[in-house]
Amino acid sequence: AELAELVRSHVRDVPDFPSEGVLFRDITPLIADGPAFDALITALADAYRGRIDAVAGLESRGFILAAPLAARLGIGMVMVRKAGRLPGPVLGVDYSLEYGTARLEVRAETVQDGSRVLILDDVLATGGTAAAAITLIEQAGGHVPGLAVLLELEALAGRRKLEGYEVQSVLTY
Ligand code: IMP
Repeated sequence: AELAELVRSHVRDVPDFPSEGVLFRDITPLIADGPAFDALITALADAYRGRIDAVAGLESRGFILAAPLAARLGIGMVMVRKAGRLPGPVLGVDYSLEYGTARLEVRAETVQDGSRVLILDDVLATGGTAAAAITLIEQAGGHVPGLAVLLELEALAGRRKLEGYEVQSVLTY
């Protein structure tokens, strides 16, 4: 609860970004605050120590969280990237967005067979991105024990797309 308050006080609400009618939750103040960022990574490390073998960060804000968590735990980080960014061979999954489609890719060789891979991102909205990431990690041979996000936008019901998976959010809006 203390951590949730710390996060809440370092997230900026930006109306009409990136487009009219959208309320964007901006985590840049949190990342820019050393003690707050450290407290967050420490809490994540304490929650997952011994329970996971790797952490998959989703480009690009997921990377910012996944890399320090992986380093803190002494485990690897798997880079889940947007289409066309990773040199091949890659596995890809297409998924639908509100308007159009998107694609996530991973290098299967970066996922150890049967390893427990936590999926980590900044924000859970509709859940489409997280669901695609689960598919990708499983196709690559990994096991997904759960997902962690900093912020969960409850009204968008992302959890419904992630049934059967443990979803931990630091803060819910
Ligand atoms: P979803 O696929 O609809 O769940 O959207 C989640 C993805 O969109 C995540 O990778 C987030 O980084 C990004 N996203 C959605 N809404 C926000 C927001 O308000 N702030 C920051 N990122 C967001």
